[in-house]
Amino acid sequence: MMDIEDICVFLCGILYVGMAVPIKILCVLCQWTWGVVQNIVGLLVFLVTLKNKHSIFRCAVVTHWNHPYSMGCGMFIFKGDHGYAHYSDERNEKINHDVLVHEYGHTVQSLILGPLFVPVIAIPSLLWASIPYFDRLRSRKGLSYYWLYCEKWANLIGDKVCGNIREKC
Ligand SMILES: [Zn+2]
Repeated sequence: MMDIEDICVFLCGILYVGMAVPIKILCVLCQWTWGVVQNIVGLLVFLVTLKNKHSIFRCAVVTHWNHPYSMGCGMFIFKGDHGYAHYSDERNEKINHDVLVHEYGHTVQSLILGPLFVPVIAIPSLLWASIPYFDRLRSRKGLSYYWLYCEKWANLIGDKVCGNIREKC
């Protein structure tokens, strides 16, 4: 026999599913129209890495690969292992979760910026990550990788959307 509390829980469940599914569909639709360029690039990388392990994180497809870095490209996230041998499993798990949330921040940036994502986020981010000069600059000035506006914003927006409390970096 169902009482009023069961009925409320049941109705809340239906409401939650009813709201969550359209929001996810809307996100995917938005990625494949407004943000189509970065999603085509992400899809191509996804297809190349099809044999890897994949999972779903919120409105993104996560590919787990063996590279020591991660990247977000539209609704596709490519996630490396960011743990350290001398850290505890819990700490490494937290570091990896923070990285995943950061990359999800790029997914949200893609939803917000659409066609501007490539010039405003992807290109500066790629240069900041790959050019040795910027690596030396970060070391010399003691700057965090997340100092650059597009990386700092990805942390802020990812943490906000995912309700994540980031470890100081
Ligand atoms: Zn980033």
